[in-house]
Amino acid sequence: MTDGLNTHPYWWEAAAPRDLPETPVAETCDITIVGAGYAGLSAALVLARAGRSVQVFDKQRPGEGASSRNGGLASGNIHIGFGKMIKTMGLETALSVYGEAKTAREGLAAFIAAENIDCDYQPVGRFTGAIRPSHYEAQSREAERLNKHFDIDAEMIPKSEQHREIGSDLYHGGMVRPDLAGLHPAKFHAGLMEAAIKAGVTIHGETAVKCIRRDAGGYETDTARGRVASGQTVVATNGYTDNADRWLRRRLVPVPSRMIATQPLPPETMARLMPKRRMLGETRQLYHYFRPSPDGTRILFGGRERAWGGEKGEFANNLRADLAGIFPELADVSLSHTWFGFVAYNLDYLPRLFERDGVQYATGFCGSGVVWAWWIASKLALKLIGDTKADTAFACAPPSAVPFYTGTPWFLPAALLWYGLQDHFGAMSKK
Ligand SMILES: Cc1cc2nc3c(=O)[nH]c(=O)nc-3n(C[C@H](O)[C@H](O)[C@H](O)COP(=O)(O)OP(=O)(O)OC[C@H]3O[C@@H](n4cnc5c(N)ncnc54)[C@H](O)[C@@H]3O)c2cc1C
Repeated sequence: MTDGLNTHPYWWEAAAPRDLPETPVAETCDITIVGAGYAGLSAALVLARAGRSVQVFDKQRPGEGASSRNGGLASGNIHIGFGKMIKTMGLETALSVYGEAKTAREGLAAFIAAENIDCDYQPVGRFTGAIRPSHYEAQSREAERLNKHFDIDAEMIPKSEQHREIGSDLYHGGMVRPDLAGLHPAKFHAGLMEAAIKAGVTIHGETAVKCIRRDAGGYETDTARGRVASGQTVVATNGYTDNADRWLRRRLVPVPSRMIATQPLPPETMARLMPKRRMLGETRQLYHYFRPSPDGTRILFGGRERAWGGEKGEFANNLRADLAGIFPELADVSLSHTWFGFVAYNLDYLPRLFERDGVQYATGFCGSGVVWAWWIASKLALKLIGDTKADTAFACAPPSAVPFYTGTPWFLPAALLWYGLQDHFGAMSKK
């Protein structure tokens, strides 16, 4: 069933990562940026438009990290639920974090429109299915709280009516968030890169950064193609952080996330299973995220890898079995693509920008970087140019180091088992 599966992201059919022409590495510039995903390019764009000379380095082709592999759910999700954040961090903090999430989502829509980025941005909303009746009750309370403080019209859909949202009987109803959207992640990355290049940013693909040193005048960055002296430096490597920054590696856990794409399905099947073409999710801890392709012809379905590993058909088959758990009629559906990439989690689940020894970081997007990588890295760049719009609730202290961890997440199989057990006993994800 998996023979002949394409192991590149489905998204690359329309927007594969580009081989950029090799340009000489300039010996000096105002700012060097490590990583040419959404975060690195978003910071570069703001800085170049403010007149700074910027060189971005990526060890792969730009976008080949998570930014052209993700599900394209533009949710700006925060892993700590609003109600829980009020309890643990206080109402004021919760209001500023969740208020900024709303502003960031709206900002992304406005940015894509203003830059004229053709990336299938669709403000279709998201339905999150409740895997247990108790989760539906908890979702109802969360929706009430969110609607009380923010104008987002979250709506609860009881099980008896859920077929107007999803052609599945698995869920016990669910919550609709009309304020969330979907886009084509690789086209979004390509548009961002085009804007950055037009603004004067130099991007060096397939050029690894090996180390960054602070010196009297600023920073020295050793790359695979030469040394650069810059006034400032930004690290935007998220789930692909390597030993060039061992300190950061100890603070970010790269978690593999896998997706499958089905072959095109009959239009009547798509209309029955995903009648509103919404983004879709669920409340279990080992949750799945799924959606129709932007042209509405097939299903793209993602979840955690069940074991550490590469591009193997068995993982795609596992995911297809999970898909059939939601839509039994798809038990034998043919797949066209399967791929995986790394998301980065930190201990407190909050995305952030921070500084260490003068080096600037935008990272820890916890699987929700479509909104956050763009927003937080743009804020970081505004901070560097001293712009008053730099204020953000996500300027934090660096994340704590993960105990007994140096960059190889040996504990992931145990963690997945633990979350599986939590699902068994009814714990709920906020995704
Ligand atoms: C399968 C999958 C599904 C996802 N689904 C969603 C979703 O639906 N919605 C959502 O919001 N988010 C989703 N995400 C997360 C989202 O894609 C990321 O949060 C986001 O792309 C992070 O962007 P970034 O620029 O920080 O990092 P990346 O795009 O990962 O870029 C980091 C770059 O740093 C480079 N790099 C690392 N070390 C070095 C070095 N030493 N020298 C030079 N370059 C280096 C890497 O090559 C890489 O290109 C998903 C991720 C995956 C993998």
